[in-house]
Amino acid sequence: MAGMPFACAMGNNGGKKKSLGIALVGLGSYSTYQLAPALQDTQYCHLAGIVTGTPEKEKVWATKYAIPEKNIYNYDNFDEIFQNADIDIIYVVLPNSMHAEFSIRAAKAGKHVICEKPMAVSVEECDAIINACKEAKVKLGIGYRLHSEPYTQEIKRFVKEKTFGEINYVTADAAYMSKRNPDQWRLNKKLSGGGALMNMGVYSIQSLIYGSGENPIRVTAQEYSTRPDYFKETDETITAQFEFPSGVVGNMMTSHNANANRLFASCERGWFELQPANNYGPLKGRTSNGIIEFPHESQQKLQMDDFASHILNGTPNLAPGTMGKRDMMIVQAIYRSIKEGSTPVILDLKSMGLD
Ligand code: NAD
Repeated sequence: MAGMPFACAMGNNGGKKKSLGIALVGLGSYSTYQLAPALQDTQYCHLAGIVTGTPEKEKVWATKYAIPEKNIYNYDNFDEIFQNADIDIIYVVLPNSMHAEFSIRAAKAGKHVICEKPMAVSVEECDAIINACKEAKVKLGIGYRLHSEPYTQEIKRFVKEKTFGEINYVTADAAYMSKRNPDQWRLNKKLSGGGALMNMGVYSIQSLIYGSGENPIRVTAQEYSTRPDYFKETDETITAQFEFPSGVVGNMMTSHNANANRLFASCERGWFELQPANNYGPLKGRTSNGIIEFPHESQQKLQMDDFASHILNGTPNLAPGTMGKRDMMIVQAIYRSIKEGSTPVILDLKSMGLD
């Protein structure tokens, strides 16, 4: 990569375009069933290219989405994408342990980056991605679609405007039952970096933070294992308690061995709840004042449009790299607490901001 011409002028000069070209890296289930369909309806970006390690997928995608051959890459020739002016944003949708490598290669090619959640498998990798994007002067967003989603935005508004007074307690569950495939990459520690916590747990962490409006200062965690034959290398169920600077207490659960999807906050003058809180929607919201309801739109469409608009129009980056790094710091603190026998772990996230 050394000496590669900086490609800013060729591919990512979004200011002149009305819609930015996105290349999806990794054509698995999320790209196939959520991102590519959503990109047919986006306003500020469109599906312009693909990067795949599976040659059979090239023709299928090229035909279905009219992708020209020059915009189709594999993992080996991916770096040549720096020359391709059709591609402005690279969206990394690979197993977690591959996020850092491909996000960094994308930044070095002068392209803006969306990196799926969890951002990476360690805080060091998050730093490496953030630094690569800074150096290349490209934007970085994490695939935290819920920040673009109206029910979640309403919860953030309740918290900010103290609609129900001060928050006293917040709880969040994000879990699903995994039964059928013990060989999937999500249960392979080398590829996933961890189990339920890395996969669904980041949603519980996010919910506790936007449900309280604060970053935690201390976490204490427990791990439960009931099916060690299936979950050979990765965590099955984790619970954790968060303490926040104002005194708010939070409680989270994540699991690959239960179905749960909820955010609930108890406040001075009532309560609010999302259930489901983090699936593809429509989410459902209730408060002590009644039901909340919004029209449904693809969360992925909203998320990718928000990121493209950030590049084109300077609107806020709703899920920046620092947010992904902060969550990885919390993930690591949770794993450390468990390793140390459920000892509280102190976190210093003051410099991380809330976004
Ligand atoms: P998937 O298993 O369906 O797809 C993974 C893709 O990576 C496949 O195309 C596969 O060919 C490719 N790949 C390359 N090297 C691989 C390897 N060594 N092992 C396995 N696959 C390999 O996974 P997915 O559900 O599409 O998830 C991809 C990423 O997207 C993950 O990081 C996941 O956390 C994230 N994701 C996010 C959301 C969300 O709501 N934001 C939802 C689903 C997945």
